[in-house]
Order: sequence, then structure tokens, then C-alpha cells
Amino acid sequence: MELRRIAADIYAWLQPDRGWGWSNAGFVARGGGLVVDTLMDVAHTRRMLAGFAGVHPEPPRRLVNTHHNSDHCWGNQLLRDAEILGHRFCAEAMQRDLQPGMLAALAGRDDLPPGMRWFAEDVRDFDFSEVEVTPPNRLVDDAGLELDLAGRPAHLLYVGPAHTGGDLVVHLPEDGVVFAGDILFHHCTPIGWEGTTERWCQALERIAALEPEWIVPGHGEPCGPEGALEMRDYLRFVYDECARLAVRELSPLEAAKQIDPGPYARWTQPERLVLNVARAFRELRGGDWHETVDVAALLDDAVALRRYWEG
Ligand SMILES: [Zn+2]
Repeated sequence: MELRRIAADIYAWLQPDRGWGWSNAGFVARGGGLVVDTLMDVAHTRRMLAGFAGVHPEPPRRLVNTHHNSDHCWGNQLLRDAEILGHRFCAEAMQRDLQPGMLAALAGRDDLPPGMRWFAEDVRDFDFSEVEVTPPNRLVDDAGLELDLAGRPAHLLYVGPAHTGGDLVVHLPEDGVVFAGDILFHHCTPIGWEGTTERWCQALERIAALEPEWIVPGHGEPCGPEGALEMRDYLRFVYDECARLAVRELSPLEAAKQIDPGPYARWTQPERLVLNVARAFRELRGGDWHETVDVAALLDDAVALRRYWEG
């Protein structure tokens, strides 16, 4: 884990991409302190907050959750006295979706199907036993929100439904920084749970159009606008490949086997391709952006795809 200074008073907390659960977060050390996302568990978040305290001794006054996925909010309870901002879809999904007990129950089991075993292996260093899901206490609507941090603005922009229904990004226009949450996976294969390809591409283009000097992604290394456009190209590539395949006759796994990932094979966890194919299929079939996804089955497909590539 690394605390990296991105601009004056602005920091990223970076974790190397070790697969599922290994996310980045951010901190603006002015105007009382603004944390952007917490981490996958309380212990990792505690270490991060200790890092932020080194540059800003007072407890942070605000936290923004970019979305509801566990790797971005399961340390929220350490900031329960702060103002916790999130989109209303984020707040709803945090209480409705995956709960800590479900992941705690995976530990030590040797009867898991291949996909869940893969996931459990990646998250084995996290401790879910003390996580108390702590949703936002101030809701942000589709119009977003502008905060004043000691005379400098922070814009919370709603860009969903793209990666999830409640995606927010944090733009610091005078500092040239965007905290993108999981709208951006940089050289890590992205995965989206809700939303549409079109909205996600628009979100990435909107971030690029802000011309930030630095974008801090939810996963991977910070980058410039080119990183956002590169990921847009990946999403378009997958969608276009699926559009040319017979979506009514193939399963996502059969289709994914027919797609040559080309340069994207070098991104981490390229087998997540099959989850992106499943999402494109849903869209090509006219499904809703919030249709329920069978995550366990798709993770099994991803493991099967990896094995297929390995021959
Ligand atoms: Zn994430």
C-alpha cells in the first residue's frame, strides 16, 4: 500500500492490483478533509486513515463513496461520524447487495465451485468479521453536488448507471485531478455489474474531456485522460465483437472463446472478458441495466475461459 501525493493537498492511497478486492482510494487534505472511498475491510481502511492522518491530523469531515461495491465502502464505519456522501442508488445497493457475512462464510471452505474459489483466494487477506455496512448519510441526486473545500471546489459528478447504478466521480477542477472510482480500471480488466456500455463510454469520455492531469482509477495506476479513452476502447471492442456474434445461439463463454483479446490479454485478469461479454449480450438482447447477474456462474465461466486459453 502506498500513500502518493498527486497534487498540492491531494493524495491517492494505492494498492497493487492483486485481483478481486484490491482497490484504490483518495484524500483531499483541505476543507476539513475529504476521503474518497474506503477499502475492502476495516483493518486495511484503518491503516489508510493512519496514512492520511500523517498529512492531516484532524479526523476527516467528509467521505464520498464512488459506488456501493464492498472494496470501496467496507471500512465506512471508521468514518461514521463524518458526512458520508453517495448517490441514492449507492446507498440502496449497499444495504441490499453483498453482505460481509456472505464473504466471511467463504473462508476455509474447500467445497467451493471454481469461480468462488478464485474469488475467495484473492480476498483471503481481508477480515470481514468486523465489517458493519455503513451507508451514506447524505444522498446525492443525479444533478451531482458541488463542495467548497477551503475556497477550492470539489465536484461530485453522477455518471451512472455505468459500472453500477450509483456511480459518482470526484473532480477537483482547480487541481486537475479526478478520482474515478471503478469507472476506470487502468490496465486491469474492468467489470461492470449494472449500467450500460453506452453510459460507461460516455462517463469515460466525460472524464477525459475534463482534461485532468491525473485520474486516480478504482484499480490500477493513476494515469492521464488517455487511460480513460483506452478503457472506453476496450468496452467498445467487447460490445462490437458481441454484436457480430450470434447472441441468441451462443452462451457468453462460447462467445468469449471466439474473441481474440489482442493487446487486452496483457491487462490483469483478462478472463473477466466473459463477464463483459455477458453484459454486452444482455444489452444486445434488450435487457434492463439493472437485470440480476448470476455472479457465481460467470466467475466459473471466467475460470473456464482462462483454462481454455491456457490450452
Ligand atoms: Zn472496485
